[in-house]
Amino acid sequence: LFAQACDFLLGVVSMKQLPPMDLPEVAFAGRSNVGKSSLVNALTGRKTLARTSNTPGRTKELNYFRLGPHTESGEGPALYLVDLPGYGYARETKTRVEAWTDLVMSYLQGRANLQRVILLIDSRHGVKPNDREVMSLLDKAAVSYLAVLTKADKLKPSELKKVVEATAAELKKHPAAHPEVIATSSVTKEGIAELRAHITALVPD
Ligand code: GDP
Repeated sequence: LFAQACDFLLGVVSMKQLPPMDLPEVAFAGRSNVGKSSLVNALTGRKTLARTSNTPGRTKELNYFRLGPHTESGEGPALYLVDLPGYGYARETKTRVEAWTDLVMSYLQGRANLQRVILLIDSRHGVKPNDREVMSLLDKAAVSYLAVLTKADKLKPSELKKVVEATAAELKKHPAAHPEVIATSSVTKEGIAELRAHITALVPD
């Protein structure tokens, strides 16, 4: 699957613009600056696919990418990758947090083809209160999610092990969370193959 082309499809600002649910999809969520764009690029092997470092506070959109054979008639599985807007800017207003929650909640509740949310957590910070709020949102929407640690290269192996364990312990409190934690780095590519395999397993042949 990940050897296939990955093309930007569209940016969605309102639910009316969502593409048809003709393919399975996997969405990526995380605090702003968690390394989401870098990770999507590392997964798909593209350098300029996801726009990195979106300006904080700008109008957010859901970015749709299509991974799979180039043409509709092409052989093999295909998938939508959805880059959800980042959350948790330091100076976020209440209105903005509510707008984010409304957008994401209506998205989560409306997509029967959504196979899994990949929830990114910065290894250096671990699970933060706003990550917990998003986990609760996912639990409420009953959308299964996988916790993926980013920037694993920034920690010593012993420190990383502690963060993995603390994250796994946190996940036990959340009914929709997948028990596994994958530590990744977009720099060293640690965990990338494992995450690709996890996503590939969600897509029928
Ligand atoms: P986004 O806002 O979540 O899309 O985050 P970006 O992908 O734009 O990354 C935010 C910052 O973290 C950038 O300066 C990246 O270079 C850096 N970054 C992202 N992933 C990694 C990683 O795996 N390791 C390290 N050391 N830095 C990373």
